[in-house]
Amino acid sequence: MSMSDNNIYDVIIIGAGPAGLAAGLYAARDRYSTLLLEKNGLPGGQIMLTEHIENYPGYEKIGGFELVEHMKAQVLNFGAEIIANQAVMKLARRDDGIINIETNSGEKSYQARAVILTPGSDYRQLGLPGESALRQAGKVSYCATCDGAFYKDKEVLAIGGGNTAVEDTVYLATRFTAKTTLIHRRREFRAQQVLVEELYAKAVEHNIDVKLPYIPVEIVGNADNTEIDHVKIKNVETDEIEQLKVDGVFIFAGMVPNTKWLEGFVEIDGSGYLPAAPTTMKTATPGAFVAGDCRQSAAMQLATACSDGIVAAMGLKDYFRDPASWAGEK
Ligand SMILES: Cc1cc2nc3c(=O)[nH]c(=O)nc-3n(C[C@H](O)[C@H](O)[C@H](O)COP(=O)(O)OP(=O)(O)OC[C@H]3O[C@@H](n4cnc5c(N)ncnc54)[C@H](O)[C@@H]3O)c2cc1C
Repeated sequence: MSMSDNNIYDVIIIGAGPAGLAAGLYAARDRYSTLLLEKNGLPGGQIMLTEHIENYPGYEKIGGFELVEHMKAQVLNFGAEIIANQAVMKLARRDDGIINIETNSGEKSYQARAVILTPGSDYRQLGLPGESALRQAGKVSYCATCDGAFYKDKEVLAIGGGNTAVEDTVYLATRFTAKTTLIHRRREFRAQQVLVEELYAKAVEHNIDVKLPYIPVEIVGNADNTEIDHVKIKNVETDEIEQLKVDGVFIFAGMVPNTKWLEGFVEIDGSGYLPAAPTTMKTATPGAFVAGDCRQSAAMQLATACSDGIVAAMGLKDYFRDPASWAGEK
């Protein structure tokens, strides 16, 4: 199928991260006219922030930037278009089923027979002095599964009080680190009690130091901000500041899905994620699929984001063949 005279694409994919690029590959290879709209100046999404990837099947080790280059070339070679610097602001489904897409670029709008929504989620940042610069250097992480292996026999600080913070502190300490300090701003963890019990049960053997109630104040880098020199933390009851010498910092403060702009077009759950049927990626809105880190219950990994995108793109054929088949399903 090709783009018709009135510029209606078969599918527009919103967000050109791994989920969007994988969806684009499959859609374009099926000969659908395919456009990816990306808010940033470059496609790639969160992997652009990843220096080393060791868990994307097929590559023992690859830099995020290089992996994106491969993904992008593959998508473009099959004829998809990617337009960068296009933040989608609003979607609306017309009576004839065509979806109208408005971007921040002013007059221009786009139309498609189907959309695949892949705007991803951002890790919640704490906005600490030094956080952003040392994130760039790969010394501040938000994902233990992604980066834990880089801290074999090293010392790290983990920050947070929810399930992920407690569980991933144990994960880091039992598999990789020589010492793990966990701080939380309250005396009680929000995490489930069973996880907290496991944390304390393993603390001595695996050198976990739990400090409550502490908040981070600043991540101080070396002269050129390539390594962490120390982290300043504060006891919120005594106001006393301490300096911790660590090699890395893991911030577990949750995720923020990039979905606010989708209000009124698809269902959004209380945490901002988009519910979709896990075997088809269909939302309750006909013609709108979801894929990747913005999806409710997503595994938040590169390979799974790609998998979601592929499943969504493979659903296009059924929808185009019989749009009415969507009704009643999710
Ligand atoms: C530092 C870091 C390290 C990581 N390391 C690993 C790792 O080693 N292994 C692993 O498997 N996973 C890793 N991850 C997780 C992995 O990067 C994500 O799971 C994956 O990128 C999710 O893909 P996605 O396409 O769903 O979302 P994203 O990668 O977030 O891409 C979404 C894209 O949509 C765009 N967008 C958002 N809103 C709009 C809009 N309104 N209009 C247009 N475009 C929009 C964004 O700009 C972005 O480019 C890491 C993540 C980070 C941050």
